[in-house]
Amino acid sequence: MMTRREFTAGLLAAAVPGEKVIVASFDDAPASHATIVAPLLKKYGFGATFFVCEFPPDFEDKSKYMTWEQIRELHRMGFEVASHTRTHKHVDKMNAEQFSQELEWVENKFVSLGIPKPVSFAYPSYVTRPYAIEVLKQRGYKYGRAGLDRVYEPGKDDPYLMPSLTMRDNNKAEVMEFVNQAGPGKIPALTIHGVPDIAHPWVNVPQTLFEEHLAHWKKQGFRVVALRDL
Ligand SMILES: [Zn+2]
Repeated sequence: MMTRREFTAGLLAAAVPGEKVIVASFDDAPASHATIVAPLLKKYGFGATFFVCEFPPDFEDKSKYMTWEQIRELHRMGFEVASHTRTHKHVDKMNAEQFSQELEWVENKFVSLGIPKPVSFAYPSYVTRPYAIEVLKQRGYKYGRAGLDRVYEPGKDDPYLMPSLTMRDNNKAEVMEFVNQAGPGKIPALTIHGVPDIAHPWVNVPQTLFEEHLAHWKKQGFRVVALRDL
């Protein structure tokens, strides 16, 4: 006999036949993830992964980036908080030991804040290297999200090289076509930056556009999840 809690957890984890799943992931810890994105996702009942780092040079500028307290609040709201390295250093600019140190710093920071040790990782600027996959596996990570601009196919694609498409202010139709591929064996994963993103205007997404995408996901009946939920 299952308890109600176990039963509910089972429902959340199990894939319902015919259900369309998409992954929403948010990079770089811009301030708008706490102030605009998280409340909107909650309103729609959507899950998400937030890949955080201390983005140089001005992580201390809180008009641009979340505080660690805000990042902890994302965890408390039920979202996945995951690793994007400490300093957004690309994996082709490090060796295994340096990469491990970047990961370890974030893991320790999470522990100090009461956030679970991350199981998901996003490669800074989508740069991947085979050594990095080995380090992620050794450290207990389950997923590595990359770029690649195509839909994730579990069983065919390496989960440590999970493809994703980046939402921008000029690709509304492309993103809608992309998510509409959701179905058996096909999970579209999106990479989204600030809504808005004042630190990185080249990946800015205006709030009105973001809400158009959210409404589209709702209308299509998508289950919107974090990487860890897959
Ligand atoms: Zn990034």
